[in-house]
Amino acid sequence: MSIASLVLVINCGSSSLKFALIPFGDDAPVLSGLAEKLGLDEACMTIKDHAGHKSSQRLPEASHLSALKVLFDELDQRQLLTAVKAIGHRVAHGGSEFKHSVALNAQVIEKIRALSGLAPLHNPANLIGIDATMALLPAVAQVAVFDTAFHQTLAPEAYTYAIPLEYQERYQVRRYGFHGTSHRYIAEEAVKEFDLDPGDHGILIAHLGNGSSVCAVKNGKSVDTSMGMTPLEGLVMGTRCGDLDFGAAAYIASCTGQTVDSLYKMMNNQSGLYGLSGLSSDCRTLQEARGQGNERATLAIDVMVHRLTRHLGAHLASLHRLDALIFTGGIGENSALVRELTVRRLGVFGLQLDEEKNQQTFAGHGCVISKANSPLVAVIPTNEEKMIAMDAAAISGTL
Ligand code: ADP
Repeated sequence: MSIASLVLVINCGSSSLKFALIPFGDDAPVLSGLAEKLGLDEACMTIKDHAGHKSSQRLPEASHLSALKVLFDELDQRQLLTAVKAIGHRVAHGGSEFKHSVALNAQVIEKIRALSGLAPLHNPANLIGIDATMALLPAVAQVAVFDTAFHQTLAPEAYTYAIPLEYQERYQVRRYGFHGTSHRYIAEEAVKEFDLDPGDHGILIAHLGNGSSVCAVKNGKSVDTSMGMTPLEGLVMGTRCGDLDFGAAAYIASCTGQTVDSLYKMMNNQSGLYGLSGLSSDCRTLQEARGQGNERATLAIDVMVHRLTRHLGAHLASLHRLDALIFTGGIGENSALVRELTVRRLGVFGLQLDEEKNQQTFAGHGCVISKANSPLVAVIPTNEEKMIAMDAAAISGTL
C-alpha cells in the first residue's frame, strides 16, 4: 500500500470535529486530530502525526468549515491532500432507512437530514461536516457510515417497544441501537482472532466508554443490543442513566415541576457515573476514589457493573451459544476492576477469569483473559476509524 491512497475519516460533533487519515488496508493513521470548542472564542485544533508529534493552533473563525480549511491546508503542505481518495463520515442515526454504509449524494444527504428528528443532537452536527467537505473537496468520493446500521438485522420482537404500535408506524418510535461500527469491527476481529465459524458463532460484546452498550452477535449479525431509539437506553454510562422506569421520571416531574426537556437533559448529562458519584463521569477517577473508600464512587461502579451484568445475561439468551465475551472501549480495554467484577458475577454461566492475565491487559492490547476451561473472555481494542475507512474505500471503489 503506498501513501498514494488515503482515506480521511471524519466524526463531526456539535462543537468538535475528530479526524483520522488512514492508509487503505492499514490500522494506524498517518495523521489524526481534533478541533474542539467550535463556536467559542477558545476554538482550537490539535494535529498528531504517526510519530506522536502534536501541534496545536487557534481557530479564530471557530467554525467547522474553518477547521476543515485548516486541515486541508495542512494536508496540502504535507503533500497528502491529493492522496485522499475517499472520505468516510460517521453518521449517528440512519433510522430504518440505512442498513449499510452508502455513498453520499444529494438524495442521501436529504434522507439524513430528514432523520434529524430521531437524533437532534447528532445528525445535524454530522451534516455540518458533510456539507463542509462536499463544498471544499467536491471531487473526492464521500461515504456515510451509520452508527445504527449494524443493528438493522434485529428482529421485530427485539426492536419493538411495547407501546401502541401506531407510534412506530407514524413516528418511527422503535429501538435502533448505536455503536454499530464498533460492534461490527469487534465481531469481525473476534471471528478472525479466535478462528470462529463465520456462519455459526455467538459473541457478546461489551463496548464500555463514555457511552456504553452491549451487543449480541449471532453468525455475524446483530440480534440484540442495549441502546434503543436513542443512546440513552441500557447501561449506566458516564453521564447517562440508561434504563429508567418512566414512572420514576413522571414522579420526579410531579415532585419538582421539571419539564420533559429538563428531565431529558438530567438523564443524559447529569446522571450515570457522574450523578451517582457526585464526583466525575470518568471511570479512572472513580476507581481511585473507590480505592480510598469513597462510598458514592463505590456505589457508582457497583451499579454500573450490576446493570452491565444483567444486560449481558439477557443478551446471552438471544444467542444459540456463547463462543466469546469481548470487552472493548476505554473502560472495557483498560479497567481490570470492571472486567473482574463483571466476569465474577457471570460465573453462573461458567465464565471464569484468569486474574493475572486480566491485570496485565490494558492500553490498546488485545488478550484472552479467561481460564482454559471457561468460554472465551477477551479484550479487543476497538477501531471505529479503521472500519469507517474500510467502508469508505470499498464503497467509493477508488482504491
Ligand atoms: P468515548 O465513548 O468518548 O469514545 P472512551 O472509549 O475513550 O470514550 O472511554 C472513556 C472512558 O474510559 C472513561 O470513563 C475513562 O475513565 C475510561 N478509562 C480510560 N482509561 C482507563 C483506565 N486505565 N482505567 C479505567 N478506566 C479508564
